[in-house]
Amino acid sequence: MKHRPGIWISLAVIILCSQVAAAHAAEPPPGDAVASAAPGAKDAPFDPEKARAASQIQDPEAATRAYLDSVSPERRAKTKSYANGSYVLQVVDFVFTSALLLLLIRLRISLRFRNLARRITKIRALQTALYWVQLLVTLTVVQLPFTLYKDYYREKHYDLLTQGLPGFLADQGKALLIGCILGAVLVMILYGVLRRAPRMWWAWFSGVAIVFLIFTVAIAPVVISPMFNKFTPIANVEIRDSILKMARDQGIPADEVYQVDASTRTDRVSAYVNGMLGTMRIVMFDNTLRRCTPQEIQMIMGHEMGHYVLNHVWKGVGFFSVLVVIGFLFVRWGFARVLRRWPNTGPNTGPNTGPNMGPNTGPNTGPNTGPNTGPNTGIDGIADVAGLPLLWLLFSVVLFVAAPLISTFVRRQEAQADDFGLDASRQPDAAATTFLKLGEYRDLEPAPWIEVIFFDHPSGKSRIGNAMAWKHAHTTAAR
Ligand SMILES: [Zn+2]
Repeated sequence: MKHRPGIWISLAVIILCSQVAAAHAAEPPPGDAVASAAPGAKDAPFDPEKARAASQIQDPEAATRAYLDSVSPERRAKTKSYANGSYVLQVVDFVFTSALLLLLIRLRISLRFRNLARRITKIRALQTALYWVQLLVTLTVVQLPFTLYKDYYREKHYDLLTQGLPGFLADQGKALLIGCILGAVLVMILYGVLRRAPRMWWAWFSGVAIVFLIFTVAIAPVVISPMFNKFTPIANVEIRDSILKMARDQGIPADEVYQVDASTRTDRVSAYVNGMLGTMRIVMFDNTLRRCTPQEIQMIMGHEMGHYVLNHVWKGVGFFSVLVVIGFLFVRWGFARVLRRWPNTGPNTGPNTGPNMGPNTGPNTGPNTGPNTGPNTGIDGIADVAGLPLLWLLFSVVLFVAAPLISTFVRRQEAQADDFGLDASRQPDAAATTFLKLGEYRDLEPAPWIEVIFFDHPSGKSRIGNAMAWKHAHTTAAR
C-alpha cells in the first residue's frame, strides 16, 4: 500500500472540500432582496456616505474597517457565499476532469479514438491531431452541464453575467474551436518530440511549450481576444488624455489605450495588460469607464501600468516556464509508474518467466504464466497518443498541487502593482472604493488560508489596508 500518491491527493482533496464546505455552511444564505436587485446598471456596492466618512479617518486600521463596513452585511454575505462556492467548484472541477480522464483510459475509449484516427489517415501527425479533436470535443460535451451551471446559471444567479444563453454558448463554441486548433498544433509537436526523444522529451518539449506560451500571449490581443470582444481606443478624450499623460510620466511609450465592450457579458469593473513582443497593451473594461470616478480610473490605470513597467508579463512567463519543466519531469516519472502498476487489462507482453512446457533444450515456448511486466493499459508507451489523458491528468495534478504557489506568485505581483498604482495616482481613497467595487465578485475578508490558496489578488481587506497605510505614510511625511 505504499507509494500511492493518488490516495494522498484524494485525501487532501477530501479534507479541503470538507473544510470549504463547512465554511460555506456557516455563512448565512444570500439575501433575497439583494439577489433580486435590478440587474443591468449597478449602483456602487457600498454606502457612499459611509465611504466618505471612512476617508476622513486618520488611523489606517480604523479607516480600513470603516471602508469595509460601508458595504452592507447582506451584500458581504452574498459575495462571501459566491466566493466560497467558487472555491468548492474549483476543486470539484479538478476532481471531475481527473475522473473523466481516468475513465477515458480505463474504459479504453482513448484507444478507440486513437484507432479511429489511425484508420482515417496514415500520416502520424494528422492521427495525433484527429485524436486531440476527439478528446477535446468529448471532454467539452461531457462537461457542458457542469460548465453551464458554473459559468452561466450560477453567474446569472449572482447578477454577475449580463450575457444571454445563445451568446454564452457561442463563446463556448469559439473557445472549443481555438482549443482544437492551438491544442492540435501543440499536441502534434509534443508527440513528434516524444517519438524522437523518448528519454529527454521533457527538456525539449519544455522549450517548445515556453515558445508556444510566448507565441500565444503575443497573438492573444490581436488574434484571440478580438474573436470574443470589440476593442476600440478609449472614446472619452478627457480620460484618454489623462491616462496617456500618466503613461508618459511613467516612461511608458503608449499612444493608445483600449476599451473593450465587456458589458456585453458582465457588469464587472476591471482592466488588464496583455500581449508581448510588440502587441502589449492596456485594456479597460467599458464598465470601468462607466462605473468609476476619474480618480478611481487613475488608480486602476496606475495599477495596470505597474504590471507593464515591472515587466510582469515576462516574469509570469519565466515563472510558468520553471513550473512547466518541473511539471513535465513529474509527468515522465508518473507516466511510467502508472503504466507499470495498473491492473492487467491488455495483452501480457512481459518476459516469459513461467515454467517451460516445451522441449527443455529449446527456447521456452510454453504459455507465459509469469507476472505481467509489460504495458497493460493497451497504451504502447509514452509516445502513444492514446496515453494523452494520462499525461494531461498528471500535469493537472502538478498545477493543482502548485495552485497555492501560483496564486501567491500572482498575488505578490498584484500587490506590487497596487503599490505602483498608489505612487503613480496618489489616490488612496479612490483605491479603497475601487477595491470595494472589485469586492462585488471577490470575498473582501476571506480566511487567511483561503487567501493563500485561492486568491490571485490580495483580498479587499489587504488591499484597502495597504492603501490606507500608504495614505498614512504619505500624509505623515508631508506634515
Ligand atoms: Zn493587476
